[in-house]
Amino acid sequence: MKSRPAASSVQIKLVTCPTCGGDSVYAASNPFRPFCSERCKNIDLGAWASESFRMPATGLPEDQIADDEPRSSASH
Ligand SMILES: [Zn+2]
Repeated sequence: MKSRPAASSVQIKLVTCPTCGGDSVYAASNPFRPFCSERCKNIDLGAWASESFRMPATGLPEDQIADDEPRSSASH
């Protein structure tokens, strides 16, 4: 789905929206810049907030915890 404008008559600086990756108008007419819309801005702020409040629950995988037996020192 291509929504690129064929020809821009006026010089509008377009930047990439950090949220959706689409074209965002980086001008005074866009109060949500560098986001393309208020929705994307809210999504980005929400993601930042949730990322901040997220508990660091990602510890060691169970494989490393269970593999604690010194099987290499087994004698034959
Ligand atoms: Zn966007």
